[in-house]
Amino acid sequence: MIRKLILAGVNVFRINGSHASGPQITTNTNSVRAVAKQLGKPIAVMLDLQGPKIRVGEFTAGMITLKTGQTVTLKVTNEKSSGSFIPVQYADFYKDVTSTGRILFDDGKMELHILSKKDGIIRAKVMNGGVLKDKKGINLPDSSISAAPITKKDLKDLKTGIKAGVDYVALSFVREAADIIKLKKLISKSASHIEVVAKIERHEAITNLAGIVEATDAVMVARGDLGVEMPLSKVPVIQSEIIRLCHELAKPVIVATQMMESMVSNPRPNRSDVSDVSGAVHSFADALMLSGETSTGSYPVECVREMGMAAMEREIYQSANRAGRYWEMGANPAFPIEQAVANAGVGMAELLDVSGIIVLTHRGYMAKRIAALHPVPPIFAFTDQQETMRKLAMVRGVSSLCMPLKSELAGNLRMIFGKLRKQGLLKKGDRVVVVASMETTSTGSTNMVRVEIVT
Ligand code: PEP
Repeated sequence: MIRKLILAGVNVFRINGSHASGPQITTNTNSVRAVAKQLGKPIAVMLDLQGPKIRVGEFTAGMITLKTGQTVTLKVTNEKSSGSFIPVQYADFYKDVTSTGRILFDDGKMELHILSKKDGIIRAKVMNGGVLKDKKGINLPDSSISAAPITKKDLKDLKTGIKAGVDYVALSFVREAADIIKLKKLISKSASHIEVVAKIERHEAITNLAGIVEATDAVMVARGDLGVEMPLSKVPVIQSEIIRLCHELAKPVIVATQMMESMVSNPRPNRSDVSDVSGAVHSFADALMLSGETSTGSYPVECVREMGMAAMEREIYQSANRAGRYWEMGANPAFPIEQAVANAGVGMAELLDVSGIIVLTHRGYMAKRIAALHPVPPIFAFTDQQETMRKLAMVRGVSSLCMPLKSELAGNLRMIFGKLRKQGLLKKGDRVVVVASMETTSTGSTNMVRVEIVT
C-alpha cells in the first residue's frame, strides 16, 4: 500500500501519535524508507504527537445518551460511570474550565452549557444531545487549558521517532511560541535536523499566530479541532490568514482534515471536496493532508490520485495565467541578504522565462525562501544532505535531489545539468537561474545568483 500511495503521488507520510506508538512508529518509518529507496523518491515521514487531548472516561455500557434539555454532571475520575455522571480523564479539568461557557463532545457533535461549578462537580445543560461513547474527545472553546502540550506519551513517542529517524515532528494543541521552542530544545539535544510542524487548532493559537509561525519550521492548519474550537464560518478565513503569514515568513504550510472526506466510503469525490482541494492549491498551500481517507477509508489510492489531479489542474491554470504567481517579498530584517537574493533570483527567472531555478542548499532554507515567492519555473534543489532532500518533499514547487557537492560551482553545475538532462527535466541550451548557498561567503550567507545555459 505504501508503494501504491507513493506512485499515486504521496510525498509525506504522517504517523499519528493518537493511534500509533512505540514499535509502530519504528516499523512504519522503516517501511516508508524501504519503499522510497526502492523507488528512488525523496519521501518524508512526519510524527504527529498526540498532545493533551481531553477525553471522556468510560461508561459501564460503553456509552450514554444525552437528551437535549437535560442537566448532567461531570467530574474528574478514572472510575467507570453507570450513567449518573460523565467521567473526565483530564486531571485539571475542574480547575481549567470556566464557570460559564461551552463543553463540546465528539468534534462538536454534542454541546453543553455550563450552569455551575462547585466542590469538584460541574453541572451543565445539554443544548445538543446525542450518543456519547467512551473516550470521545472534549473541546472547551471558552476556556484555556493549562496542560503542557507535550505529555509523557509524547516524550516517549518523540524519543522513538528520533531513533527511527523521522523528518518532521508535529506538535498538537500549540498555544504559543514557547510550546514550539520547548519541543525544538528537546529535539536539538539529539537530532537537530528534525523540523517542527505547529498544528494550529486551539483558539489561543489564533491569538498568538504570528509568534508561533515565526518560531516553527512549518505549520499545519488542523481544521478538525480548529473547526470545533472556532466558529466553523471563520475556519476558511483563518486558513487564508495562516497561509498568508506562512508565505511571508517562508514556512511550508499544510492544509489538513476532511479534504476528501467523501472518498472515505466512495470511489469518487464530491464536487465540494474537489473545490476545497483546488482552493487550497489556489492559495498556494505547500501540502494537502489526508487522514481518515487514507488510514481507514476504502479508497486510499484512488483518493490520493483524485486529490493529485485536482491539485495539478489548479497548478496548470495558475502557471498558464500567472495567477497569484511571483510576488516580491519586502525587506526582511531577520534574513536581509537571503531575501534580497531570493527576490533577485526569482525576478530574473520570471523576466527571462527560464526553464528552471537551480538552488544549491545544505539545509533547504534558500529553497523554501524561493518557493515562498511562487515562481512559475520549477525549483530544482540540490543538497548533500539526505535529510534536507526528504524534508523538501513537503515544499511546493521544489524537486529535491541529493548528491555529493564540491566546493567549486562549475563542477557542481556539470553534474547537475547531467542529472537533470538525464531525467528529461532540462535540455541542452535551456536557460536557468542558479542560486547557491553552499560556499562560505564573506557575507556569511547565500549571496550568489547567476544565469546559466545548460550544457
Ligand atoms: C486536526 O485536528 O485537524 C488534526 C489534523 O489533528 P488530528 O488528526 O491529530 O486530530
